[in-house]
Amino acid sequence: MSDAVHNLGVHDKLGRGLRDLRISVTDRCNFRCRYCMPKEVFGPEHRFLPRSELLSFEEMERLVRAFAGLGVRKVRITGGEPLLRRHLENLIEKIARVPGIEDISLTTNGSVLTREKARSLRAAGLRRINISLDALDEPTFQAINDVAFPVSRVLEAIDHATAADLAPVKINAVIKRGVNEHAILELAEHFRGTPHVVRYIEFMDVGSSNGWRMDDVIPAREIIARIHAVHPLEPVHPAYHGEVAKRWRYRDGAGEIGVITSVTESFCRSCCRARVSAKGDLFTCLFAQRGYSLREAIRSGAGIEALQQAIVQVWARRTDRYSEIRTEATAARDKVEMSYIGG
Ligand code: SAM
Ligand code: SF4
Ligand code: SF4
Repeated sequence: MSDAVHNLGVHDKLGRGLRDLRISVTDRCNFRCRYCMPKEVFGPEHRFLPRSELLSFEEMERLVRAFAGLGVRKVRITGGEPLLRRHLENLIEKIARVPGIEDISLTTNGSVLTREKARSLRAAGLRRINISLDALDEPTFQAINDVAFPVSRVLEAIDHATAADLAPVKINAVIKRGVNEHAILELAEHFRGTPHVVRYIEFMDVGSSNGWRMDDVIPAREIIARIHAVHPLEPVHPAYHGEVAKRWRYRDGAGEIGVITSVTESFCRSCCRARVSAKGDLFTCLFAQRGYSLREAIRSGAGIEALQQAIVQVWARRTDRYSEIRTEATAARDKVEMSYIGG
């Protein structure tokens, strides 16, 4: 990416630009992953956002225009489960037309990704897809998603994405000690020799309902060591500044894996990512305790420049570096839930 584009943008208090945007399109999900939306908190009584509070696709498109003018080049659509939002391809089509946006990706649990849906998302302009899968054996996976959703259907979704020319698929696997550590090697062996890239994510203290403890985290270096002991690995240099996953490749040429060291090796210093919730709140950190509503401005007819001014005001004051200062005490803080803010 050229410096010229970079210089047009806004910088926060730690000199970080604004390059990536994650938009949560819904706070709803058909899974109840224990580490994200535990049933005790997200049970039948839980009140999700009413339709009227959600940003429309037109409103999201305007926001993306505003962000693109401030330096954002990559947009990731997430949630909740983003594919529960109907006609998501319409949003992707709109974003793909925004000048400056070079890359659109989607993170999904894959549960409703049919062959036709994968094709229409690709045709609308989706370039990359991450599909979450934390284990390959049914008892473990079904206990994690807590709605008895079968592994086989997620594997089919990966096939559909591949058939729609969305490969290589990134397979997101959150690893929690004592829960799915056996999946580390099983996932590696299943996807070795395919174009897909398993990305192991350290279990994080997002929100305030997942009961996070440092003892439950398997550090990325341990994940790598476990795979390396059986299938030797070597590091791959980052493809670009600010790349979140640390990449490794199999020495025998069977492909790549990645680790997301959000807990044990923070990457706050290069964090250029803003998040917008489904109702239009801007968050400057995944572990934020509050957001800044942009919806009022959008709904009162503010132009792109006015939206940009609102975003700049927030970004210019940003000092977030939560992963650098995390302790078990900060983990207990009242933070925004990940299904709301978008993972
Ligand atoms: N529902 C979609 C999915 O699961 O892919 C998109 C939203 S989900 C919040 C985005 C990603 O965040 C998923 O890959 C999920 O595994 C990850 N995630 C959720 N809670 C997490 C936690 N406590 N620690 C680490 N990753 C987490
Ligand atoms: Fe749903 Fe994704 Fe959270 Fe699981 S991780 S509960 S699939 S939003
Ligand atoms: Fe960015 Fe916050 Fe994560 Fe640090 S903790 S990398 S500032 S989202």
